[in-house]
Amino acid sequence: MSKYIATRAIRGATGLVGEAERMLSQAIADKGPETPVQFPNTAYYLPTILGLTGREVSTLGDLVPLMERARSLLHPVPASQLWKPYLGETLDAGVGTLLAAETIEAVRFVNGEQPERWPGFEMGGGTDYPHLKDGHLNGPIDDIQLRSWGIQLVDGRMPGFAAIVGCAKSNEVAVELVRQLQQRNILIFLSGNVNGRSIIHQLQEEGVEMGYDTYIVPFGTDTISAIYALGFATRSALTFGGMKGGMPREIFLYNKFRVFAFVLALGEVDDLKYAAAAGAISYGFPVIADTVIPEIRPSGVTQYEHVISMPFDEIQAENDLERAKKMVQKAIEVRGVKIRVTEVPIPVPYGSAFEGEVVRKNDMRVEFGGKHTRAFEYLYMADSDQVEDGKVSIVGPTFADLPEQGAMDMGIVIKVAGRKMQTDFEPVLERQVHYFINGASGIQHIGQRDIAWIRISKAAADRGFNLEHFGKILIARFHADFGAIVDKVEVTIYTDPDKLKFWLEKARTAYDFRNRRLADLTDEAVTEFYSCTLCQSFAPNHVCVVTPQRLGLCGAYNWLDCKASFQINPTGPNQPINKGTTIDPVKGYWSGPIEFTRQASHGFVQDVSLYSIMENPMTACGCFECIVMLIPEANGVMVVSREDPSMTPAGMTFSTLAGMAGGGLQTPGVMGVGKYYLTSPKFISADGGFKRVVWMSSILKQTMADEFVQVLEREEAPGFLDQVADETICTDVDGLLTHMTEVGHPALEMDPMF
Ligand code: SF4
Ligand code: ZN
Repeated sequence: MSKYIATRAIRGATGLVGEAERMLSQAIADKGPETPVQFPNTAYYLPTILGLTGREVSTLGDLVPLMERARSLLHPVPASQLWKPYLGETLDAGVGTLLAAETIEAVRFVNGEQPERWPGFEMGGGTDYPHLKDGHLNGPIDDIQLRSWGIQLVDGRMPGFAAIVGCAKSNEVAVELVRQLQQRNILIFLSGNVNGRSIIHQLQEEGVEMGYDTYIVPFGTDTISAIYALGFATRSALTFGGMKGGMPREIFLYNKFRVFAFVLALGEVDDLKYAAAAGAISYGFPVIADTVIPEIRPSGVTQYEHVISMPFDEIQAENDLERAKKMVQKAIEVRGVKIRVTEVPIPVPYGSAFEGEVVRKNDMRVEFGGKHTRAFEYLYMADSDQVEDGKVSIVGPTFADLPEQGAMDMGIVIKVAGRKMQTDFEPVLERQVHYFINGASGIQHIGQRDIAWIRISKAAADRGFNLEHFGKILIARFHADFGAIVDKVEVTIYTDPDKLKFWLEKARTAYDFRNRRLADLTDEAVTEFYSCTLCQSFAPNHVCVVTPQRLGLCGAYNWLDCKASFQINPTGPNQPINKGTTIDPVKGYWSGPIEFTRQASHGFVQDVSLYSIMENPMTACGCFECIVMLIPEANGVMVVSREDPSMTPAGMTFSTLAGMAGGGLQTPGVMGVGKYYLTSPKFISADGGFKRVVWMSSILKQTMADEFVQVLEREEAPGFLDQVADETICTDVDGLLTHMTEVGHPALEMDPMF
């Protein structure tokens, strides 16, 4: 351990704790100790403080003992010339720094100084949180966003995050660093500056789209805002890992082993950055600096090196872009996770970080589908000798002669063959087209089947992106992701009107067939359900039982997906569960799922019913799309969507409720579900089904309107949805009961729920 680093970290921590103390006493003097303190849209109070100390800070006064704690962690700056293992002191300084940094941000929130103002700045992509739209940086990440990344984090699509602090050598280098990270689907958190200039300025100047959907989140231009990265890490442990506040050791270990993260320190490292780095090291996150600084070698805290110095100009490479590339490679190597990148032979960058990009009309070269034209995609299986692997054909004209911002019809027809391929997997694979095509930078894909809508940006077209590349993407990705069931892939792009018409009809016949197949696919009709234990990497005791009529609560896996996934990876997280003997078909008890869940939950869940929320409901991890919860007074349930930040009649927002619903615990009356489960005839069918819904987030009513039409037909209750309240009608129980009485909601007449 370097005395130099210890000295500087302790000095930095001492300075910051002093500043936090000053700010806090000033705020208390001005506003009083009872003044409420909170970060927006989180149920975890000040998350790092909660995690490390167990304290639920809600007023300025609550922060006072924390500052005493932070001060007690400050050791004297080492003076002796003797070698001493300063690691303990340095890590203490790191933790003190974290407590002080979060305190400072909390006080700044009270003062209206957070998130940082940045006139004109707008979070890009599909980031759709109104409070982020009015000219400031992001500040802390919402619980909602953390959860919606959950499934990607647990299934490894999003390996983890990189916290970049400071300013890159040049704008060019800044852009290359984030592109390299984006291509590996690594989340990017930005903070800090060097002499007033931040990497956020650099990216902004280069027109890089920052936002949740592009995986680039600007926290703030000072070092202190890097605390939000550790708040995110802490909440990962609390949200998905089932840890509780006040378990710092467990939270550190969780992050060390399960959260892949590292810090890139760009530019000069001052005392405060050393202190913050010491905080990151406690979490097991190594720090890679692009300047000359003393290194810290492994000693058990991080898995690998703690601090790596990689002076940028000394990196052996042809130019700065290559150096940036090598720096990212090194960081990933140091953190030690194998990241699988599929090489996709196209002229634009490729990776999930580009999935959320929006191509606006003005930036568009050409579109297929949408208002004026039609685009469809159709995947079918064929005999092996009828598929020429790797071949892409274009039948009809390209868009070369089309005016700028033109539109044309297009059909993408994919023919696959494989010994393990089944007709049932056709829709599973076809649904991937959306994700695969969206991964290309400058390409936007919306919808599916014959309502697909694809845009190519001018920038992508200028780089040479053409129709053929759709095929190249699909071939590369199907081989990479579904190689276990697909041996050959051939793609034909149709723009010729006659051919297109012919294939569109064929496709529609297939869609119809699949719809009927899905309708026939009931829980009674099969002998096997599937498990999903993917989320056990984060929620160790949670098991999803996925049936034809109840999809996984994340919404990402239905029964067919699980079936295909089992074929792809027979020892993976999706195992067939033989139904076994029927114990109670109404409540949904079968011996198979019960035995499986008992064993896979390590005994935490003894019994599980598949159709009841009141009796042994299925558990949830953290990535549910909606929460269903009993409202006893109303004799019914409410359904709140992850996207809905409003108050609910349960007296809690989604964020707060999520803490009760998740973690693999069984809580009668509360359940996390996938939104399509709402449309299933098996939706809490043991408790009365869909008619029990008394309140539902309006966003669900809107986005699922088409699906609900069919549900209402089935329930023979055409006007029912108007009887269901939402947040625009009421957000408390009294209002709910008044509304229910006014509209004569059926739940009032139904049997008592318990
Ligand atoms: Fe996680 Fe369940 Fe979705 Fe599987 S189905 S990924 S366990 S939420
Ligand atoms: Zn999950």
